[in-house]
Amino acid sequence: MISYTDTSWSDVSKPTLIIRPELAKANIAKMLEKAHKNKVRFRPHFKTHQSAHVSDWFRDVGVTAITVSSVSMAQYFADAGWTDITISFPVNIRELEMINKLAKRITLNLIVENPETVQILGQRLEVPIHIWMKTDTGYKRSGVQWDDTRALLALATKIKEQRQLDFMGLLTHAGHSYKEPGRENSLRIYEETRSRLTTAKVNLEQAGISTQLSLGDTPSCSVAEDFTGIDEIRPGNFVFYDLQQLMIGSCQAENLALAVACPVVAKNPERGTVIVYGGAVHFSKDFAEVDGTRKFGIVAQGDSTQGNGNTWLFQQEAYLAAVSQEHGTVKLPLEMLGQLHIGDLLLIVPAHVCLTVDLIRDYRTPAGERFRAWS
Ligand code: PLP
Repeated sequence: MISYTDTSWSDVSKPTLIIRPELAKANIAKMLEKAHKNKVRFRPHFKTHQSAHVSDWFRDVGVTAITVSSVSMAQYFADAGWTDITISFPVNIRELEMINKLAKRITLNLIVENPETVQILGQRLEVPIHIWMKTDTGYKRSGVQWDDTRALLALATKIKEQRQLDFMGLLTHAGHSYKEPGRENSLRIYEETRSRLTTAKVNLEQAGISTQLSLGDTPSCSVAEDFTGIDEIRPGNFVFYDLQQLMIGSCQAENLALAVACPVVAKNPERGTVIVYGGAVHFSKDFAEVDGTRKFGIVAQGDSTQGNGNTWLFQQEAYLAAVSQEHGTVKLPLEMLGQLHIGDLLLIVPAHVCLTVDLIRDYRTPAGERFRAWS
């Protein structure tokens, strides 16, 4: 916790993302090393940090290809100098004008799963682009079913028939890895994903269609060590990690690189809670289930407020227990509650950092440097 009287934090008056650059850079370095070791292309998803400033930390270590989740986000990072971008979201044909403009200045990769979209892209794209086929390997959100060989072949053939479309391969996101905590489960889901993608690839290649494989979710990419057969990985969350990842087992407490500084606005010692300025409009309503309890975030303690490299400490009894629009209800052990004053700041590691960053957008380092995510 940070005291109201600590003048080095007097600039923080509302929920603010507190980023630990040294930890984020260590997370980047570790994932990059894994990619290098396995000779896979590292195409990190930038929807987690959404910041040109953070993107420079990737560029500084040699990353050249990235993933984003919208056309506008692609434009922002193209303006920041990124020249090889995958928009990993089904093509929205209502944005074709923007897509055409973007494709004229960068290498653009799009993902499709329906012949109808392919047809429209073939007719209306003004320059060649790379196309990936979204493949469902078990998440059941979007994509052509991995074992529906007829559908895979039909779509790949249709893509190859379009002059402007360069078929790259199969792309999947095994988001169901979030539903089954435990490193063994993450590893099992990863192996199943890799095996299913490989089967689909073999079926396409038997028909003479050369196919790359791209996968990316932080649990899989954090626990897996062997990426044989995979061409590209696209994790995003790993740059900061969060409470959900900690509970899944993708990271350790010392890898958590972002918390939200929340002003304490009310105390309720009889309930063992304080109210912070930091609710659903800052954290989202995503939670992590810890031993049957919903936690929207976990309180970070310890002497890391000056950016001195110390890691945050956590107690399972100190957590964000409820969120309404602006209110956050934080449960605290009595001893901590007794030390806390109105106006102090609590640092809270969010359950799901991607949504929290998207909602708050104002970054500050412990040393006081400030920057913003794009808007
Ligand atoms: N690729 C796609 C298509 C995604 O939807 C996501 C995240 O939702 C990612 C990659 C990155 O996964 P993660 O957030 O687990 O790092």
